[in-house]
Amino acid sequence: MSTSEKLYAICKHKETGEYHVFPTKKNENDKCVFVGKASLCGTMNTDERDGCLASCRTTEEIREKAASIGDKICGNCMKIIYKTEEE
Ligand SMILES: [Zn+2]
Repeated sequence: MSTSEKLYAICKHKETGEYHVFPTKKNENDKCVFVGKASLCGTMNTDERDGCLASCRTTEEIREKAASIGDKICGNCMKIIYKTEEE
């Protein structure tokens, strides 16, 4: 129903080991794809990833996932995830 709901992925940076959040969407084949190349915080791009933990998840699911990752998750990405919720 809520097709406008934003979806995200959490991906690991191959050098820093830090996790960043990326905007994703389902394409016409119901496959999850990145929307652009930059992480929400803007400091990582999709070419720098070493796998993703979750993809096409709602903000709520991303928060839960982030909580289980702990301090390896990017604080700036999370700020944006929390901000989206208030809109
Ligand atoms: Zn980030």
